[in-house]
Amino acid sequence: MEQPQDSKFEESFLPMTSIGSGMGVSVLPDVYCYTDQIVNLVVVGTPYEFVLIDTGMPKSAEQIKDMIKERFGENAVPKAIILTHGHFDHVGSIVSILEDWEIPVYAHDDELPYLTGKKDYPPGDPNVDHGLVAKMSPMFPNHGIDISKHVHPLPSDGTVPHMNGWKWIHTPGHTPGHISLFREQDRTLIAGDAFVTVKQESLYKVITQTKEISGPPRYYTTDWDAAYESVKKLEALKPKVAVTGHGIPISGEELSKDLQYLVVHFDEIAKPESGRFVN
Ligand SMILES: [Zn+2]
Ligand SMILES: [Zn+2]
Repeated sequence: MEQPQDSKFEESFLPMTSIGSGMGVSVLPDVYCYTDQIVNLVVVGTPYEFVLIDTGMPKSAEQIKDMIKERFGENAVPKAIILTHGHFDHVGSIVSILEDWEIPVYAHDDELPYLTGKKDYPPGDPNVDHGLVAKMSPMFPNHGIDISKHVHPLPSDGTVPHMNGWKWIHTPGHTPGHISLFREQDRTLIAGDAFVTVKQESLYKVITQTKEISGPPRYYTTDWDAAYESVKKLEALKPKVAVTGHGIPISGEELSKDLQYLVVHFDEIAKPESGRFVN
């Protein structure tokens, strides 16, 4: 009998975690990167006005709420949730979070079909890499969620609600409506999965959080030409610090050198040699 996706997911995936899970780092006084198992979520703002960027893995709602209470006090509630994209490891706990907190969610127009129950992502492609995470990826949940009551398109002028001074940037490729967030004033970038700082296909590297500039996670990326253009776009912003959807935050010369390297060697480093979305 076919098992429902969720139970498959619990059996096959939850044991996987990283040494950084449950830990957070203040990248800047108002930018906090928190690692939930294998994925990062970001809290941006002050106790009076802050947002949550992405919502981690499934079943992490309590942990995420505890983290926010610890950071901003018992009654702290984010003004909104901003989604870089809708993959399960970025929207995992959103339904439970929204049960407690009546707050709006913002995402790119092109991502809305996956957030309103209209479309599913293609299943992960195991053929993109020899790494174990890539091999496990077809078992990850790929179905879109339905948060129609809460989700709104991001403003078309590039501003981000409750994130003063920040702009959203369309960085498709990994998903159609993927976005990154950039604050010009101090050149801070929240990249989502447009590029990451860990080779996300490898279980060993994910667990140890070995730092290594990488393109978007391969098993899920459907449009490699767009993904390349998106990395170029982000490199051109000359960010000084970057928080990525997976891996450790990166800054300064290491960031600029690594990003340039990724642009120049994108085909070798980022793009899989074979796989469903390459040929
Ligand atoms: Zn993703
Ligand atoms: Zn991801």
